[in-house]
Amino acid sequence: MRHRIAVVGGGPGGLTLARVLDRLGQPVTLLERDSSRDARPPGGTLDLHKGLGQLAMEKAGLAAEFRALSRPEGQAMRILDPDGTVLRDWPYREDDEANPEIDRGQLRDLLLGPLDVQWGRGVERVVPGDGVLVRCADGQEEAFDLVVGADGAWSRVRPAVTSTTPHYTGITAVETSLDGVDARYPELAELIGDGSMGVYGASRSIVAQRNSGGHVKVYARFRAPLDWHTELDDAEAARSSLLAMFDGWAAPVLDLLRHGSAFVQRPLYVLPVGHTWTHVPGVTLLGDAAHLMPPLGAGANLAMLEGAELAEAIAAADGPAELDEAVRAFEERMWARAGKWAEITTAGLERLVSPDPAQAIAVFDEVHAS
Ligand SMILES: Cc1cc2nc3c(=O)[nH]c(=O)nc-3n(C[C@H](O)[C@H](O)[C@H](O)COP(=O)(O)OP(=O)(O)OC[C@H]3O[C@@H](n4cnc5c(N)ncnc54)[C@H](O)[C@@H]3O)c2cc1C
Repeated sequence: MRHRIAVVGGGPGGLTLARVLDRLGQPVTLLERDSSRDARPPGGTLDLHKGLGQLAMEKAGLAAEFRALSRPEGQAMRILDPDGTVLRDWPYREDDEANPEIDRGQLRDLLLGPLDVQWGRGVERVVPGDGVLVRCADGQEEAFDLVVGADGAWSRVRPAVTSTTPHYTGITAVETSLDGVDARYPELAELIGDGSMGVYGASRSIVAQRNSGGHVKVYARFRAPLDWHTELDDAEAARSSLLAMFDGWAAPVLDLLRHGSAFVQRPLYVLPVGHTWTHVPGVTLLGDAAHLMPPLGAGANLAMLEGAELAEAIAAADGPAELDEAVRAFEERMWARAGKWAEITTAGLERLVSPDPAQAIAVFDEVHAS
């Protein structure tokens, strides 16, 4: 049975859903607000976990392509004290396939493949009913049997199922990046190693993470009121403000900020842990739209597996009643799994940006011991 399916949002979750539907012969309308594939920088690197994102890539028929592009060595990790002392050093182990890294842009391109995305089609509103209406910012309206909100933290589909909105965690991240580190800043390349390097002080941290091609993303995280700001459009003012905040930290660590280019501020928002809603026929959510949580390595993985599982459930459903049953079952499964990860990442964020830096190191010790 072919259903009329709309997927709103072409992030990791929406793309995986659309790609698996396409693979299973179920037509899909994919509406994406961005005007084109390259409308904005794709972002940093993602680690895909074996039973989550990697499983989704298998379901999408893209496991080999993922293996060819991914960077298992990116799992290497080092922790420094703010004075520059190396406290922990976990090199990449040859056989470790648990969480290889891949650039977001590469992942997006793999998933996009043959998909026919409707770029520049931002959804404004979704109205449930017998034939769910999707209204786009361009004024066009269309009816579907099922609309899936995969449109991220500030979902426009979510109000059709719940009035809950994300709240600020009290923790802000500022992101900057360096290009060509191996050639331009060999001492920083050495410091970061093959994967990532984190430095944890009282209620603040600096993490540097390798992407492919010598590109490094640097994340400064700290507790701050929501209206904390530097003039982030003015890179020099942002740099000075961050250097003052991390004053006294080892010179090579501060060099990551000194050499960073543009600065982007990201206050960390989350939905409540265990967020659910009363089922609404014809509309559902997945990924950040459903369970926005701290960015600690789970969100994209969950979004992708949810996309793949929902696609399989849709394709197997024979009529409207079966489709609705399949969506209900999908939601129950998603809520149970995402709820556990929301608990883990919420507790993790508190410990990683803790007044006691030993808490942060303990998080990594626990991860590496498990
Ligand atoms: C710095 C950082 C590092 C992270 N690292 C990791 C990691 O290593 N591993 C991991 O698993 N997760 C990680 N995450 C979390 C991860 O990025 C998100 O959980 C993930 O991107 C969610 O995917 P999604 O498809 O649900 O939503 P998104 O990625 O937010 O995609 C939503 C899409 O919907 C589109 N859209 C938005 N509104 C509309 C609209 N109204 N109409 C149409 N389209 C719309 C957007 O343009 C976008 O393309 C990280 C997050 C951050 C910030």
